[in-house]
Amino acid sequence: MERITTIAALRDRVAAARAAGATIGFVPTMGALHDGHLALVRLAATLSEVVVVSVFVNPSQFDRPDDLAAYPRDLDGDETALASLGLRVPVVVFAPSVEEMYPRAPLTTVSVATLGEHLCGASRPGHFEGVATVVTKLLSIVAPDLAVFGRKDRQQLQVVRRLVADLELPVEIVAGPTQREDDGLARSSRNRRLDAEDRIAAAALSRALRASVLAAERARDEGREVLPREVRAAAAAVLADVPLVVDYVEVVDAATMQPTSAPVSETTPAVVAVAGEVGGVRLIDNVELGDPEDEARLLSATS
Ligand code: AMP
Repeated sequence: MERITTIAALRDRVAAARAAGATIGFVPTMGALHDGHLALVRLAATLSEVVVVSVFVNPSQFDRPDDLAAYPRDLDGDETALASLGLRVPVVVFAPSVEEMYPRAPLTTVSVATLGEHLCGASRPGHFEGVATVVTKLLSIVAPDLAVFGRKDRQQLQVVRRLVADLELPVEIVAGPTQREDDGLARSSRNRRLDAEDRIAAAALSRALRASVLAAERARDEGREVLPREVRAAAAAVLADVPLVVDYVEVVDAATMQPTSAPVSETTPAVVAVAGEVGGVRLIDNVELGDPEDEARLLSATS
């Protein structure tokens, strides 16, 4: 596996690939790669001729030093996992140090107003500014034709889409579906920190989303509007008796990420988003109601 650790070397590598006529796909990650990340890499490989995977645990998007310190790191394991995909296109791992990415305290930051006000933005001050800044910087370094982001971090996806549109960045943003464990739990690097008991509680997050999709289906079957308060109540009820500290259960407009009370439809989709802490580990999940594919994927992955 090709590993590059400096910005200059990565730029040279991409320039050479481009000169040879290759299109560049990019998958930014914080490492500790799991099947969720690997699915995004596979998707990028079907859409481009060289794939750059960045592995960088970005300190500026962590609001808690303990969370940053506990974040799993396993670069060798990540490279093994990428190599085992056996992709037909070259994969370049870009793994810069913190000093390489932030040689000085940046005076320039990127903040996407309003999209980061609710959900994770409300509970993690500064998080989305850290994300938007590092994503902008990575897109500037890699200069890919397309970049793949996971729906698992739905608010992040929206922040990235918007910053790319507002700043006219010449990159296509592709959304990859959420990959789940057998019991429906969304795959996450943080799942490694869950013990067996926590693991059972954690699965309630996706069951809560399942309940909201079923409530939406029921409303449609009965010829009623799909109301955010009804689907929210269905999700909240599942989480009520679980040993999990709920951070939020919210229904937001899928474009603005603002809480909504408008009936949900394919033209006005809404995201049911949940977050909770189990055994000191913060987990998030979501489903997009009004997006038939996302609803169907959630139902088929949960029971
Ligand atoms: P992270 O390493 O957690 O920063 O995630 C890197 C990328 O992988 C982001 O675009 C995430 O949304 C995506 N991702 C993380 N978990 C999953 C998952 N279970 N399914 C799909 N994409 C994911």
